[in-house]
Amino acid sequence: MIIKEKYVKTILSESRIYNYALNPYTGCQFGCSYCYARYMKKFTGHNEPWGEFVDVKVNAVELLMKEINKKKKDRVWISGVCDPYQPLEAKHGLTGGCLEILADNGWPIVIQTKSPLVLRDIDVFKHADNCDVGFSIGSADDGIRRLFEPEAPPVTDRVNALKELHDAGIRTYAMIAPVLPGAEKLMELLDDRVDYIYLDRMNYSHADSVYKKNKLEYFLTDEYFESVSREISGKCRKAGIECRIVF
Ligand code: SF4
Repeated sequence: MIIKEKYVKTILSESRIYNYALNPYTGCQFGCSYCYARYMKKFTGHNEPWGEFVDVKVNAVELLMKEINKKKKDRVWISGVCDPYQPLEAKHGLTGGCLEILADNGWPIVIQTKSPLVLRDIDVFKHADNCDVGFSIGSADDGIRRLFEPEAPPVTDRVNALKELHDAGIRTYAMIAPVLPGAEKLMELLDDRVDYIYLDRMNYSHADSVYKKNKLEYFLTDEYFESVSREISGKCRKAGIECRIVF
C-alpha cells in the first residue's frame, strides 16, 4: 500500500448525486472488486492497482473551514469516491474534523461507509441538525462479501453499527449496491435498523472476473435483479421502510 500525504486546492466538489461531495482521501484501502471509483486513477496519475494507494488530503479540514464561507450551504455527501472511514481515518481523523465543521455550521450531511469506525463520530451525528448515516451492504452472506470485498469489514459489523446508530436516534440507511448474491436475505438483518434503503444494480464490469472465477454468472441476469428488488421492496413495505430503487 502506497500512502502519501498531499496538500490539495479544494475539498468540496460539486456532485450529481448530492449537491456536494467531500473526499478526504484519494483512493480506498478497501479496494472492492466492483468499485466504480477506480476511474479516479485517470485524473490523479496513479499507476498502482486500485486499493493499493491512498493520498491523504492533510489540509482537508483547513480548506473546508474556508470553503464553507464561500459556497452556498447545501447537502454534502461523504464521500463518493473513497470510504471516509477506511482504516487511515483512525490515524488522521480528517473525516471527523470535516464533519465537526459541517455540523457546527448547520450543513446537511450524508455519510456512506462500510466501516464501523464511523461510530467514533456518533456524538457529532447526534448533535447535527440534518444528518443521515448509511452503510453499503451488497449481501447478507459474509462468504460472498469476502469474494468481492475481502478487505472491507464483515457484514455483521456493519449491521451492528447500523443498529447502534439507529438506536441513538440517528437517521440511517442501507445502500444495497451493487446487489450481490445473498442480497435477498438482507432485510432480515436490516428491518429494525434503517429508515430507508437504496437498491442499485450498478456497474459490474470490474467484478466480472470474481463472478467468473466463482461460477456465479447466473446471478447477473435481469431476472435475478428483478426478483431481488421485488422481494426487498415487498419486505420494506411490510416493515414501513422506504425503498428507493435507482436502477
Ligand atoms: S469501500 Fe467504496 S470507495 Fe472503497 S473500494 Fe469499496 S466501493 Fe470503492
